[in-house]
Amino acid sequence: MREPVAQARVGPPVPFREPPLPRPSAGDPRPGYAGLPPGALALWLEGQGEPAYRATQVAEALWSGRAASFDEVRQLPVTLRARLAGAFRADTIIDTQVRPADGGLTGKALHRLHDGRLVESVLMRYPARRDRRARTTLCISSQAGCAVGCPFCATGELGFGRDLDAAEIVDQARFWRRDLLATDERLTNVVFMGMGEPLLNADAVVDAAAALSDPARFGLGSRHITISTSGVVPGIERLTGLGPQYTLAVSLHAARPALRALLVPLERRWPAVDVVAAASAYAERTGRRVTYEMVMIDGINDTTEDAHAAAELLRGRLAHVNLIPMNPVAHTPWQPSAPERVEAFASTLRAAGLSTTVRHNRGVDIGAACGQLAAELAGQPTPTAVERRRRLLVDESAAALQLAATSAS
Ligand code: SAH
Ligand code: SF4
Repeated sequence: MREPVAQARVGPPVPFREPPLPRPSAGDPRPGYAGLPPGALALWLEGQGEPAYRATQVAEALWSGRAASFDEVRQLPVTLRARLAGAFRADTIIDTQVRPADGGLTGKALHRLHDGRLVESVLMRYPARRDRRARTTLCISSQAGCAVGCPFCATGELGFGRDLDAAEIVDQARFWRRDLLATDERLTNVVFMGMGEPLLNADAVVDAAAALSDPARFGLGSRHITISTSGVVPGIERLTGLGPQYTLAVSLHAARPALRALLVPLERRWPAVDVVAAASAYAERTGRRVTYEMVMIDGINDTTEDAHAAAELLRGRLAHVNLIPMNPVAHTPWQPSAPERVEAFASTLRAAGLSTTVRHNRGVDIGAACGQLAAELAGQPTPTAVERRRRLLVDESAAALQLAATSAS
């Protein structure tokens, strides 16, 4: 998730220590435990001539966070532990490095998967306030990289690596549950706002969300799980058909089509009007307000015209708008909007009856925006490449703004 403070600037990259494990060259064919459909392990155990309660013992130990490996499930006979480990991976993450920030309130994890891919998750602790209980929110990744290519996003800049499977998604949450157990803390929310476009990996994301919300597995209430999408209409429709009341977040960023096509290239395939229609159907079906996210970029999408266009698009919907000053990334010339601009934008939305908040985030000191840590590790692009990309974005945004202005007049 984004953690910029308005006007924060990202400093020079902090060198990242390579994890000690060698980079594995081959994949691992054993399925991850956390991605197994309910009942699958019991069936396997039955085939092995083992009693059904063994599946419960494994589940209790692995989902509670008390054990990370089959070997740590002490109630099991040693030979069964070995057989389980031969058939399944108790954990699909082979190594994790955590970087704390904000005096320990934020933790940024870089997880290494079996094929050497790196994905990120970010834990954010929000202490209790007068009007709110304390929350501990985890932001998880659904893909290594992302194919959508939003120009303000560090993950988009990385390009697409591969889809994560359900176990690889859920194991990020299991990692943090174990970590939090040591300090007697509890995860309260999970958001799919890390690397990747969740609804372009919908099969795995739907399975992962089911495992996270199943009381017999991870056991987080569905309302405490947020799925964020840049606007994959068929994926939103699929969620509507499913039933669970996940919180849906839509990355809108701009309502004017020409500008949105620059900021969220998926606009060309699924225009914002269709995205908002699909999201509204989801809201009606579940009775849950949809959150619309707008990254605020100075002079690009924070103008009065943009605020009015967004207000018109969302007016009367079951919606909440979240304005997020952009976290600066190396490959763009863009900067976060000034606080007054963001406030003016928020006022226009509120005047249209839309509940609106401005998210002031944290963790900028660890480069905690989407994919930034992985991008850093992948190696900085050459200064010439950055310069070329920046020039292109300046030209493209000028053209998009011009087009937006002409089509409005
Ligand atoms: N692909 C999904 C979910 C992951 S991105 C999506 O786009 O919704 C999660 C959120 O982080 C999105 O709202 C995205 O727009 C935002 N984001 C990406 N880069 C950012 C940056 N540099 N500053 C602020 N928010 C950013
Ligand atoms: Fe992908 Fe979301 Fe980043 Fe866009 S903002 S490139 S959809 S991860």
